[in-house]
Amino acid sequence: MKSHAKAVVIGGGVVGCSVLYHLARAGWSDVMLIERSELTSGSSWHAAGGFHTLNGDPNVAKLQAYTVQLYREIEELSGQPCGLHLTGGVMLADSPERMDFLRLAHAKGRYLGMETELITPSEAKSMFPLMDERHFVGAMWDPVEGHLDPSGTTHAYAKAARKLGAEIVLRSRVTELTQAIDGTWKVVTEQGTVEAEHVVNCGGLWAREVGRMAGLELPLLAMEHMYLLTEPIPEVEAFNRETGREMIGVIDFKGEIYTRQERNGILLGTYEKAAKPWSPRETPWDFGHELLEPDIDRIAPSLEVGFRHFPALENAGIKQVINGPFTFAPDGNPLVGPVQGLTNYWVACAVMAGFSQGGGVGLALANWMVEGDPGFDVWGMDVARFGEWASLRYTNAKVRENYSRRFSIRFPNEELPAARPAQITPLYDIMVRDNNAVMGDSWGLETPLWFAPEGTEPKDIVSFHRSNDFAPVGQEVRAVREGVGITEIANFAKYEISGAGARAFLDHLMTNRLPKPGRIVLTPMLNEFGKLIGDFTIASRDPKDGADRFMVWGSSAAQIYHMRWFEKHIPRDGTVDIHRFDQTLVGLSLAGPHSRAVLEKCVDVDISKDAFRFMDFREMAVAGAPCMVNRLTYTGDLGYEIWMPPAYQRLVYTALKEAGAEFGIVDFGMRALLSMRLEKNFPTWFRELRPIYGPFEGAMERFVKLDKGDFIGREAAKREEREGPRLRRVSFIVDAEDADVMGDEPIWAKVGDQDFGTVEPSHGYGAPRFDAKGAEIATAGGGIVDGEWRVVGWVTSGGYAHSVEKSMAQGYVPADLSQDESAGLFEIEILGRRRPARVNVEPPFDPGGGRMRA
Ligand SMILES: Cc1cc2nc3c(=O)[nH]c(=O)nc-3n(C[C@H](O)[C@H](O)[C@H](O)COP(=O)(O)OP(=O)(O)OC[C@H]3O[C@@H](n4cnc5c(N)ncnc54)[C@H](O)[C@@H]3O)c2cc1C
Repeated sequence: MKSHAKAVVIGGGVVGCSVLYHLARAGWSDVMLIERSELTSGSSWHAAGGFHTLNGDPNVAKLQAYTVQLYREIEELSGQPCGLHLTGGVMLADSPERMDFLRLAHAKGRYLGMETELITPSEAKSMFPLMDERHFVGAMWDPVEGHLDPSGTTHAYAKAARKLGAEIVLRSRVTELTQAIDGTWKVVTEQGTVEAEHVVNCGGLWAREVGRMAGLELPLLAMEHMYLLTEPIPEVEAFNRETGREMIGVIDFKGEIYTRQERNGILLGTYEKAAKPWSPRETPWDFGHELLEPDIDRIAPSLEVGFRHFPALENAGIKQVINGPFTFAPDGNPLVGPVQGLTNYWVACAVMAGFSQGGGVGLALANWMVEGDPGFDVWGMDVARFGEWASLRYTNAKVRENYSRRFSIRFPNEELPAARPAQITPLYDIMVRDNNAVMGDSWGLETPLWFAPEGTEPKDIVSFHRSNDFAPVGQEVRAVREGVGITEIANFAKYEISGAGARAFLDHLMTNRLPKPGRIVLTPMLNEFGKLIGDFTIASRDPKDGADRFMVWGSSAAQIYHMRWFEKHIPRDGTVDIHRFDQTLVGLSLAGPHSRAVLEKCVDVDISKDAFRFMDFREMAVAGAPCMVNRLTYTGDLGYEIWMPPAYQRLVYTALKEAGAEFGIVDFGMRALLSMRLEKNFPTWFRELRPIYGPFEGAMERFVKLDKGDFIGREAAKREEREGPRLRRVSFIVDAEDADVMGDEPIWAKVGDQDFGTVEPSHGYGAPRFDAKGAEIATAGGGIVDGEWRVVGWVTSGGYAHSVEKSMAQGYVPADLSQDESAGLFEIEILGRRRPARVNVEPPFDPGGGRMRA
């Protein structure tokens, strides 16, 4: 074993081997994988080996597609077969809601270039004769599904990596990790110590333990999972004989079952409701190539449904039951990337579908380590998406919930109950008990979504259609637009960045000019490739001891993501200090034409129009409490954001409510706020603005000052300006019926033969594209045509804009079409039906912006 390596990958499961292969392929041949036992000694060896491309997050779906395409490559390079069976598969819908879900998945597939097809139950039966079609209302066919040999595949990655120069050390457990002052990692193993620039935790079942070696508590948990193998089934043998084909894979949502052919019988696995964690606190090091005790009673309810839906299975003998553990993150997606607060400590763990996702995970991580950026949008699996609240207990509750809901529908207005409340503000009981609020989880914080009318239960009726929040949210919006409203905004990220070097530091990170003391600017932040990685509100406080102080507000969910970026770029000379407030600073937003009159009653300073102008920032006492006040709101109306330590929040809230009583002040929630931003054409972070778009694509150019001096991403942004963006963010008014867009719907345009080619966002490099045979294809509608209509883009978000009484959507289309407001040019596919839509260049509410400046 050598004593130095550029990177050490800990763990030789399918994920570690894929990371090793991708690092070597990217040119890092001085890399090493260290495995405690033999390759596949964690969960990889007993996997069912199924793979598919569908995922709720389109970006994760793309990486899954890349994984499937990769198998041919590693087979060729390694000479080791992966045992691929590309059978295709169907998902069976037993209810109209499930069919809506499949319609949505199919629509998403259209802009991802996936060739899924909606089919009838009898068409499904012709592909899978074991099913009783009377239990189903429809199905979706996906040709890119199948199964493989888990062990062969893991070894194919490993052999291919070795061919490219990587080293693999077996039977040597990593026992300790320490980092020297110069950043070098000392990887202590049973066979000696290796010094490495980078370490990668691919510990799978032991990823928590490998995290703890560096002081981390990673949010992941192993769950027991069972599948059974049947004896030969005559109907399967007959199908093979008659068609010459293997049986396809099937997912039966109702039974929480997946099946595929295994030899002459069937492999049937379940994601049962009675989910059971395995080794909830720590994984024993002596757990080897072992299986767990089967517990058929636990999966009996799923089997009962399965036997009804697939009668031939009821009589089949069970040859073997496999019960094995594998790991999940709280939301079921992997944990990938560099860990904030540590240097060169990377993770690729909690990969619950290693044979669907392992390749994409390896590619993203290797790009990130070698190039400094994953190369495409990996937010859905970024380890930075969880905060400190994702503790062992939180993870336990959420993983159990996620496992038992693996095949359940998640409705767009559905808030999941497990592990809540994780964090609350001082107003929680007022909101819940007195105000009848329906609460939502906003990055671990309970946040009012809307207020149910007195005498009604504060609860969402979950649906893909407009639901019971529609009328109350409409009332909240109108009350703000016509009078005044108040809402909690504790769920924003808040930082103070101060010190002698603060101005230069922020100026180098942000695209806009920094404000003078007492003023506010809005500013995007770009990466080196000129892609949007942040969108902030920055206020300049009065300097202290001669040093600048800036208050910075951003997206709550991106706090760890942004801290990681700030720490990467902070000068090492101690001239910049970054303080993340998290919930030690909370907020209220007061908005609407009477908001000034309300605030005036609670302060002792002049806040008249000229004394406290739009985009001013001031520290002032509100109801006697020391607050910071921004003269702006996300509603796009006259209004204020008021920030205070939590100890003052009740006091300030109560005073503002009392002062507002004469103006009929209302409480409004996040849903009303988001409705109001829609009618102002304001974008949101993580929906409209993401690291796959440039600032010109995102229509953010007025906040990008290319002439202000150097900043990260300036050269790329200049190029985007020079060449012109290929895509453009636009707002639409949609002729919707009783359902509004949810996000990720395809946008069609009547453009005849005009071909925009691929309208996928311009990635930094190496965006994966695929088809069932692994050939490159154009995505995002380059190929999807229906007569004169083509899919030319996708929706990012939308909903109902209540004060202008219109259904609205935002999304990306080719720049050439983005200013064309003609009727009849666009259609947006909502729940499988194409609805007319019209581009709306100016915001329908207050296009001149007079209200905000009033
Ligand atoms: C019953 C069952 C069925 C499944 N079916 C499927 C399926 O059909 N399709 C699918 O895609 N996935 C399936 N999975 C999930 C799949 O097995 C996992 O996604 C995958 O194995 C995760 O791989 P990994 O490399 O992250 O982890 P592991 O396979 O757990 O690998 C981790 C490796 O790290 C090593 N290690 C840990 N700590 C150290 C240390 N300190 N020093 C050295 N080495 C260390 C371990 O020995 C182990 O070999 C199934 C899982 C189970 C249990």
